[in-house]
Amino acid sequence: MGSLQEQVAKLAEKLLASQRTVVLTGAGVSTESGIPDFRSPGGLWSKVDPLYAFSAETFVKRPEVFYQLGLPHLASITSAKPNRAHEVLAALEKTGLVSCVVTQNVDGLHQQAGSSRVLEVHGHLRTATCMECGSKISWDFLLEKVFAGQIPPRCTDCRGIFKPDCVFFGDSMPQDFDEAIKESSASELLVVVGSSLEVAPVNYLPTVAGELVIINLGPTMADHKVSLKVGGKAGQVMDLLWENLMRNGLVS
Ligand code: NAD
Repeated sequence: MGSLQEQVAKLAEKLLASQRTVVLTGAGVSTESGIPDFRSPGGLWSKVDPLYAFSAETFVKRPEVFYQLGLPHLASITSAKPNRAHEVLAALEKTGLVSCVVTQNVDGLHQQAGSSRVLEVHGHLRTATCMECGSKISWDFLLEKVFAGQIPPRCTDCRGIFKPDCVFFGDSMPQDFDEAIKESSASELLVVVGSSLEVAPVNYLPTVAGELVIINLGPTMADHKVSLKVGGKAGQVMDLLWENLMRNGLVS
């Protein structure tokens, strides 16, 4: 397995050898920005059952469940700042070493860090849509309504209920997921960062990619398929990767 430095050196070699690299990120890439993931100790799963609080079926029957149990966990996400992992991934795109980032995260931190090709396969927290008439409001306005006691928040035009534009368990996948399948199928290398790969259908993506590398603190569902597993913190690994590429004069 080797030291973390040795693992990162191998990662650098693989990145340089690949003509087309896609990065797939999960909640673990944002824990160093202060956003808890689902499955780590102390993560969201230990506080609320996401399969209930973020269930599409429950939302239709009892939207107040999401607004009372789920939304408070999402409300702090939008004030988080990108960490070193987001920054290095954005820089790797600029140098051409990464062709796009596919993210399961709804926090928008890749775009904030400067990544321009980001496929958000679980949606985002920028807007919410009225389930009756389809009109949209901003995330901030949604929070304003909820914090003013409007649960569930309703459309002023038709009285329909607003739902955030992120994917709930049981929802169909957005168009970005079709794009992510195309990108992953066309990739020579898929680098997964900070995901347990337990959530379907995203965990299908590593099965269509050329070669698989995983950077994750804990075990994942696809560990048996990797050509390299880097067991470190995303921010530290990405920092070491950038240093390695700089030392070898490959980026500046
Ligand atoms: P997950 O919680 O199932 O897995 C996260 C993985 O990251 C774990 O295996 C953990 O060991 C690892 N990890 C934690 N911190 C790390 C770090 N600093 N460096 C490297 N690895 C680290 O998350 P998932 O696979 O993304 O699935 C959870 C679902 O919940 C996804 O749909 C995701 O979109 C959503 N979610 C999103 C956010 C967010 O937007 N930031 C936060 C929580 C959950």
